[in-house]
Amino acid sequence: MIDLHSHTDHSDGSCTPPDLLALAAGAGLRALAITDHDTLSGYDEARLCPKPDSLELIAGIEITCKHGSDNIHLLGYFPRSDPGDRFRAWLKQTHGHRADRNRRLVARLQEMGVEIRIEEVEALGRTMTGRPHFARVLIAKGYVRTMEEAFTRYLGEHASAFVERQGPGLVEAVEHIRLAGGISSLAHPVRIEFPSEQAELDFLEAMKQAGLTAIEAFHTDHSPADSERYLALARRYGFAVTGGSDFHGSNKSGTRLGIPRVAYEVLEKLR
Ligand code: AMP
Ligand code: FE
Ligand code: FE
Ligand code: ZN
Repeated sequence: MIDLHSHTDHSDGSCTPPDLLALAAGAGLRALAITDHDTLSGYDEARLCPKPDSLELIAGIEITCKHGSDNIHLLGYFPRSDPGDRFRAWLKQTHGHRADRNRRLVARLQEMGVEIRIEEVEALGRTMTGRPHFARVLIAKGYVRTMEEAFTRYLGEHASAFVERQGPGLVEAVEHIRLAGGISSLAHPVRIEFPSEQAELDFLEAMKQAGLTAIEAFHTDHSPADSERYLALARRYGFAVTGGSDFHGSNKSGTRLGIPRVAYEVLEKLR
C-alpha cells in the first residue's frame, strides 16, 4: 500500500518529517509522498533522514492555485528526479505572495483591535506561515477558543479579517510541474464546487488540454461512490489517478496515514 498525500510540520501537519517517515514505515507503506502546501522543505528534510529500504519517499507538493475566483489544490509529484532549480525558483516567487498576504492579514487584524505581531505568527510557521498559525496565536491570546472559531470569526473566506492572497494560476502551475518533469494531479476533486455536472466535464476537458496528468480518485473526503465516479471520469478523459490520506496528524482530526488504502500499482502506472 502507498500514501501519496501527506503533510508535515513544514506546512500545516503536526508531524516532523522523520516522525512521518517512521509512521509510514510502521503502517507498512511501500511508498510515501510528502505533499506539503506550497513548499518542498518537508520533503527536503525527509530525504536526508534515515528510513527503511522498504519505504520509498516521493517528492511532492500541494499548490494552492487560483482558477477564476476559486482556490484549487493541485498536487505535483516528482517520482523520477528532483524538481530542480527552475521549479524551486518559481516556488520562491509564490512565497512572496504568501508573505505579502500575511503582512496584510496582520494589519487587518490590528485594525480590528486584535493585538498580534507578524513575528509571533512566523515563530510558529517556519517556512510556510499560514492561517493555521494565525489561528494558534488567536487561541493562545484568548481571542477564540478553537481553530474552527478562528476561521469562522476572523480567518475564513467569509470572515471579518480575510484578505486575498495572490496565487499561481492553475494552468500555470500544471505547466511548471510538467516542465520540471513532474506529474500533476487535481487534489480532492470532490471539494471543487461546480454549478452543474456539465461545468465539471468542461473543466476536466480544459484541464486535459492544459496538460493535467492525473486526478486524485482516492482521498479521505471521497466516499467509495465518489472514488468510482472519479475513476470513470479519469478513464473518460485519459487521466491517470492518484490517492492518499491527506494526513495532517493531530492538526486535522479524521485523517489516518495509509487510509484510504491505495495499491502500489497506482504508483507504477503513474511512472
Ligand atoms: P493559507 O494557505 O495560509 O491560506 O491557509 C490555508 C490552510 O488553513 C488550509 O490548508 C487549512 O489547513 C486551514 N484551514 C482553512 N480553512 C479552515 C477552517 N475552516 N478550519 C480549520 N482550518 C482551516
Ligand atoms: Fe492542509
Ligand atoms: Fe488540499
Ligand atoms: Zn493536502
